Amino acid sequence: MRYTQFFISTLKETPSDAEVISHQLMMRSGMIRKIAAGIYTYMPLGLRSIRKFEQIVREEMNRAGAIELLMPGVQPAELWIESKRWAQYGKELLRFKDRKDNEFCMGPTHEEIITDIARREVKSYRQMPINFYQIQTKFRDEIRPRFGLMRGREFIMKDAYSFDVDSSAADLSYDKMYQAYNRIFERCGLNFRAVEADTGSIGGSASHEFMVLASSGEDAIVSCNACRYAANVEKAEGIKQQQGGAGQQALTKVHTPDKKTIAEVAEFLNIPQSATVKALVLSNGEGKFVMALVRGDHELNELKLKNRLGWDEIQMATDDEILRFTGSPPGFLGPQGLKEELLVVADYTIETMADFVIGANQTDQHYTGANAGRDFQINQIADIRLIGAGDPCPRCSGGTLEVWRGIEVGHVFKLGTKYSNSMNATYLDKDGKEQIIFMGCYGIGIGRTVAASIEQNHDDNGVIWPLPLAPFHCSVVAINAQKDEAVMSAAQDIHDRLEAAGVEVLLDDRDERPGVKFKDHDLIGIPLRIVVGGKNLAEGKVEFKQRVGGEMQLLVPEQAIETVIAQVK
Ligand code: ATP
Ligand code: MG
Ligand code: MG
Ligand code: MG
Repeated sequence: MRYTQFFISTLKETPSDAEVISHQLMMRSGMIRKIAAGIYTYMPLGLRSIRKFEQIVREEMNRAGAIELLMPGVQPAELWIESKRWAQYGKELLRFKDRKDNEFCMGPTHEEIITDIARREVKSYRQMPINFYQIQTKFRDEIRPRFGLMRGREFIMKDAYSFDVDSSAADLSYDKMYQAYNRIFERCGLNFRAVEADTGSIGGSASHEFMVLASSGEDAIVSCNACRYAANVEKAEGIKQQQGGAGQQALTKVHTPDKKTIAEVAEFLNIPQSATVKALVLSNGEGKFVMALVRGDHELNELKLKNRLGWDEIQMATDDEILRFTGSPPGFLGPQGLKEELLVVADYTIETMADFVIGANQTDQHYTGANAGRDFQINQIADIRLIGAGDPCPRCSGGTLEVWRGIEVGHVFKLGTKYSNSMNATYLDKDGKEQIIFMGCYGIGIGRTVAASIEQNHDDNGVIWPLPLAPFHCSVVAINAQKDEAVMSAAQDIHDRLEAAGVEVLLDDRDERPGVKFKDHDLIGIPLRIVVGGKNLAEGKVEFKQRVGGEMQLLVPEQAIETVIAQVK
């Protein structure tokens, strides 16, 4: 591919709304362009990496025996009403009506559609096990889309759904997907962990998340230094709480005056236990921060807080700001990162707890007696977790826990009969008796994984693609391309021979200074590079260099070509 016949549009400046490195580099290298909040165009360069990853996923899904299909993005409400999720799903589900007033949604996931397919098509035990998958565009109206493709509203997901005759057969299907996921992320060269997770709104009995380790990750995970135990922190806390005494102990351990659990604060503020209590980080734009307890409608509460404090403007704090004021890593305490168990209050300008309290929707409960300095330590974040680094492992004796931050790139669930029950998906067994189908579902974020790879592989100059995800394997940079015919024809020849050997090559034939070209290739992150220049060529040599590690080598073209082919194969 000639550079001048392809389309690459790099940026010199980092867009101001790009907080994490992958978002910055994807914008700067021209991989994506923003259309609206959380909605992006995959530009030609970005699309190549996206397609690379899709192909890896496809190969491993096929290898594991899953069968590809493609379901619609638009889904009828009826199916969601049947599964009871129409009422449960909340605002992430984008709903709308057609011209005949029929209700629809943009699919955030496809359990309903695939269960409908299965109940019509899978009628006999002979048809199972079966696993359908697709690579398809999802829509979730995320409350705070951010980090580019990492948390978009429209995003590409690989989702697979397994159907089995009983629970133990479903376990086998689950294991197959678990193995396939390991292979997929290993092939991408990612540093990741599979961790035990909660099942959330998808439902089911067991699940694992695949977490790419990265400081920018929005999830906290723990792993044991002695056994193989690893879990999402929420899940680990759940286990501790179930163990009763242990949970109590952990709570006491971290129960210092400046630290309160959200439940304690909820009680203190007289917010009913039944209410959903969430936390929200706000700033008045002048470096004044408050972490407030809110419940119910976020926007409404934001407005109330604004009025109560008499601030003209309240904005969500950025991760950098949160980091600066709390000393906690971005994401950990950001609005997305604040989980219900995580906890509580900090501010350092406000006088009394009353200032924190935001009323419920109708009954504006207002706590008046409290003093922030006395009842809650000010200027300190109360980061309460039931479980943390150094705690004893809940699985083995002797092991202690380490805490990591991770990006959830994949998630596998044992669904059991949750959807087959509510939607009546049954089959006839050997004896002609009607039985319920057992299901599993398995997701991978395509764009999020590509972004996660950049979080793990970059330097000051740009992206460093691992070969499997690189938009091009090798660039051939022709120096003085538009004027030096000998250079151009040698470069073209190298390009053609590499391409014939199956190497994806970008031939930089632009009329640009060498420095500009090298900068662009570094930014784009192409792993291998051959430079063809007049001086070296006169001596029958070209330069070969890798994006990272390895010195520049002067080689005869034949050798350079062989070196590249050997690396790519
Ligand atoms: P998160 O906890 O990050 O909101 P999720 O648990 O809601 O993700 P799942 O329902 O498990 O997501 O979806 C399967 C996969 O889809 C996730 O593991 C993730 O890789 C990807 N994914 C989910 N939401 C998004 C999003 N908003 N943008 C990009 N990818 C996403
Ligand atoms: Mg989500
Ligand atoms: Mg999740
Ligand atoms: Mg998930």
